[in-house]
Amino acid sequence: MASQQSSKPRRILLKISGEALAGDLGFGIDPAILSEIASAVLEVRSRGVQAALVIGGGNVFRGAELQRAGFDRVTGDQMGMLATIMNGLAMREELKRQGGSAVVMSAYGIPSITTQYSASIGRELLSSGATVICSGGTGSPFFTTDTGAVLRAIELQCDEVLKATKVDGVYSADPVKDPSAVRFDKLTFSEVMQRQLKVMDLTAFALASEHQMPIRVFSMKKPGAFVRAACGGSEGTLVSG
Ligand code: UDP
Repeated sequence: MASQQSSKPRRILLKISGEALAGDLGFGIDPAILSEIASAVLEVRSRGVQAALVIGGGNVFRGAELQRAGFDRVTGDQMGMLATIMNGLAMREELKRQGGSAVVMSAYGIPSITTQYSASIGRELLSSGATVICSGGTGSPFFTTDTGAVLRAIELQCDEVLKATKVDGVYSADPVKDPSAVRFDKLTFSEVMQRQLKVMDLTAFALASEHQMPIRVFSMKKPGAFVRAACGGSEGTLVSG
C-alpha cells in the first residue's frame, strides 16, 4: 500500500488577558478591541491555522482582588471564572458577526449558554474550522487563566501557546523601568527559571515545562504580530525545550 504523507495543520492557542479587552476603558469590553482581535483570529484561520482562545477575566473580576476587599477567595475566583465566560461569549458573537464559526466551551456546565468543555469535542471543532473559546479557566479556584491556557493547549494538542502581552517579548528586566533591558528571541524553560524571568505564573510555567508546550510571548498591540506568530513567524520570544 502506498504511504500517504499527511501534513498536520498548525494549531495554536491564543491567551489574551481580560485587561487587554478593556483597553483604555480599564473595565469591561472595548468593542473596537474585540473587533480587532476577532478579525486577526479569522485572518489566521483563513491562512489554514487552527486557533483556540483563552481569554482572562481581569477586566471584570479577579479572585485575589475580591479577597482583599473581604470576599471569600473561592467565591471570588468563581466570579473571576464567570467573567471569562462573559468575555468568551462576547468574542464568539464578534467572530460570528464577522462571518466566522466559533464555540464557547466552558469548564463549568452552563448548558443553555455554553458547551461543556471536552478535549475530544474541542479537537474536532478545531479540525472543522471553528474557533474554540475555552472559558471558565481550569474550573477550579486558586488557578489563573494562564494555567488554563497551558492546560487546554496540551489537551487540544496545540503546537504553541501564544501569550499576548503589553510588551513584545521577554526582557532581561522590565523595559519600562530599565532602558538597558534586552529582549530575548529564544529561551529554554530552564533559562527562564535560572534567570528568574517572568513569563507566566509558576503553576502555568511548570505545566508547560513538564509537557514541553512552547510559549511564545508577543505584543498584541504591534501591528501584524499575532498573525505572524500564529503562522509560525519569529515574533516576540519563544520559550521551549
Ligand atoms: N480563575 C480561577 N481559576 C482558573 C482561572 C481563573 O479561579 O482556573 C479566576 C481567578 O480569580 C482569576 C480570574 O478568574 O483572577 C480571572 O482570570 P485571570 O486573573 O487569569 O485573568 P487575566 O489576568 O488573564 O485577565
